[in-house]
Amino acid sequence: MSNSEPIISIVCPCYNEQAVLTIFMERISSVLQETGYNYEVILINDGSKDDTLSVMESLREQDHHVRTVNLSRNFGKEAALTAGLDLARGEVIIPIDADLQDPPELIHDFLREWNKGFDVVVAKRVDRSTDSWAKKLSAELFYKFHNAVAHVEIPENVGDFRLINRRVLKAIQLLPENQRFMKGIFSWVGFKTSVVEYKRESREAGETSFNGWKLWNFALDGITSFSTAPLRIWLYIGSVISAFAFLYLSITVIKTLIFGIDSPGYASLITVILFLGGVQLIGIGVLGEYVGRLYMESKRRPSYIVESDKYQDAPEEKQND
Ligand code: UDP
Ligand code: MG
Repeated sequence: MSNSEPIISIVCPCYNEQAVLTIFMERISSVLQETGYNYEVILINDGSKDDTLSVMESLREQDHHVRTVNLSRNFGKEAALTAGLDLARGEVIIPIDADLQDPPELIHDFLREWNKGFDVVVAKRVDRSTDSWAKKLSAELFYKFHNAVAHVEIPENVGDFRLINRRVLKAIQLLPENQRFMKGIFSWVGFKTSVVEYKRESREAGETSFNGWKLWNFALDGITSFSTAPLRIWLYIGSVISAFAFLYLSITVIKTLIFGIDSPGYASLITVILFLGGVQLIGIGVLGEYVGRLYMESKRRPSYIVESDKYQDAPEEKQND
């Protein structure tokens, strides 16, 4: 690696962030300059509907550290982040949100831990008071459930804001799936990890794009990507229901032998039929969820498409790629 290459790569996915990008760049640049390392800031425009792209481009014109990557449409945060990771050239890579909820000043702590020899430094939120109660509750339930059923544990209240070194990045790139649940992937690869704590700020400007339904689907992605427990549980649900059915059958036989034939119960019959029908449909639904993901994965489509990628010395660097 030549001297002109960046040591730190900041990876920042941006979706409708025109209101915050300039102040984001101001804050992160002053932190990065203090570190004394050469750096690059990769801004990925994830198909924004506002003027994010032109703001990004003008930032690049003012500052040669900025690299602007424009995806061909909105691919979602996980894909945008993956694009940035794939293009990063630094020795350490730091994914960060554009909205300044992740304080750039924490990068100093990241680098301190990295210099101690850690491969990964994660940022753990000690205070989620800036999140709504619904988000806090759903996040907590998600972590509890996910960690109970999945083989890899995702540390609670740890987001994508972290430092990873090139070794970890290479490991992440070995995972070929195109539906990338990054929180899980980051945890899955392991490595020597240090934790620094911080207080999560509220959004500097603009709006969150993760609400209700999107978060629910995100949680489903997470659980189905890293666990088959929801499939396996049907074995046990089925066994328990069969055991009950057998018990009920035995009771009925004995009752009939002793008391003769009782009047048939329409209500109990219909209840059992509806209950079992419902249970079976839920089971098929869960199965469908996995089959759907299998189907999407089997297409082997790339996670994202880059429309343009601009940075200083680009043509020369691209030959090296
Ligand atoms: N983001 C993105 N693509 C999307 C949605 C979000 O690149 O489709 C980016 C967004 O610009 C921000 C980060 O992902 O930098 C986190 O998004 P947001 O702040 O909306 O999520 P929250 O912090 O509320 O979880
Ligand atoms: Mg945010």
